[in-house]
Amino acid sequence: MRALRLNAWGEPPSLVELPTPEPGPGEVLLKIAGAGACHSDIHLMDWSAEQAPPAIAPPFTLGHENTGTIAALGAGVSGWEIGDPVAVYGPWGCGRCRPCRLSAENLCERTGELGGMGGGLGFDGGMADYELVPDQRLLVPLGDLDPIAAAPLTDAGLTPYHAIKAALPLLVPGSTAVVIGVGGLGHMAVQIVGELSPARIVAVDTSEQKLDHARRLGAEEALLSGPETAARIRELTGGIGAELVVDLVGAQPTVELAAAVVRSGGHVSVVGIAGGTVPVGNGTVPFDATFTGPYWGSAVELREVLALAAAGRLRADVETFPLEQAMTAYEKMRAGALVGRAVITP
Ligand code: NAD
Ligand code: ZN
Ligand code: ZN
Repeated sequence: MRALRLNAWGEPPSLVELPTPEPGPGEVLLKIAGAGACHSDIHLMDWSAEQAPPAIAPPFTLGHENTGTIAALGAGVSGWEIGDPVAVYGPWGCGRCRPCRLSAENLCERTGELGGMGGGLGFDGGMADYELVPDQRLLVPLGDLDPIAAAPLTDAGLTPYHAIKAALPLLVPGSTAVVIGVGGLGHMAVQIVGELSPARIVAVDTSEQKLDHARRLGAEEALLSGPETAARIRELTGGIGAELVVDLVGAQPTVELAAAVVRSGGHVSVVGIAGGTVPVGNGTVPFDATFTGPYWGSAVELREVLALAAAGRLRADVETFPLEQAMTAYEKMRAGALVGRAVITP
């Protein structure tokens, strides 16, 4: 089978031929329908060995946002049929610790001992004809959802869902949620805030095209990111600030913007991993504001995201690329020229 491999830190990935894996006891082989291209993959491609998380080591096949159909079942796996359409829950924990038993494998206590953080993140992922999933607990039935458009729900949908859900009690009528970065994750974040809360949505991006996209998805205000943005958001909120700021970039200017516009008692969720930091000592940020750096979401939350999509209330806008053109998708993402999410369709 073909697979897009990250062979070593600091080297561009390459498309190679690998033997199609055979599922061992408890494992499931999927024929990949869609593998979303995440900006985290660009971080992976750019990181040196020193910058990379110690829990991940190449070589491995990229692609951590995957859907497919069941191609083969390992010994002892029951309850599934060949051909069943499924989404892969992406953060693969030990399956046994307390957070894992609560379905929050994103918070597994044994991360670092497992040899990877998930398929496409240390283990072989879905940018290939087939993906080996180590345990059926990591599969979620797709039902009637289009498997290609559903692939981004597993990360670009789940991650902002988890981040926003944590702040829902703050989002009452009259409140404001700021979404910074309306790309793969951000275009889902705008919809999720709109579906789960009555808050006014203010979107921020560096691209007019992304701001148009945000407006179409329900943002009442869409602002170019720049030196005036914080003042404009303060003005829009009567000088008080926003109840929620979700930063889906995480660069120095965006975390500074988030800290500058959150209100007292508000919540800042820095989802983007571009390395920006702000001091959060008492007196440096508004009183009682909370700052978090969330990671992905739980398997139960993935079911909730899929249910929202099945109800027609959340969708990923996707541009598809064949596996041979996966690097073109990443180049387009790097150039900021994608609207929504790129999905690789092997
Ligand atoms: P993307 O490239 O699809 O979208 C990024 C968006 O941010 C683009 O629309 C871009 O125009 C905009 N942007 C860039 N610089 C900006 C700035 N200074 N101000 C405002 N907007 C700006 O990326 P994505 O796949 O949505 O990923 C977003 C970030 O989230 C990445 O850092 C990724 O690694 C991270 N991520 C984190 C998690 C997690 O669990 N914490 C999960 C998935 C992705
Ligand atoms: Zn991702
Ligand atoms: Zn665990």
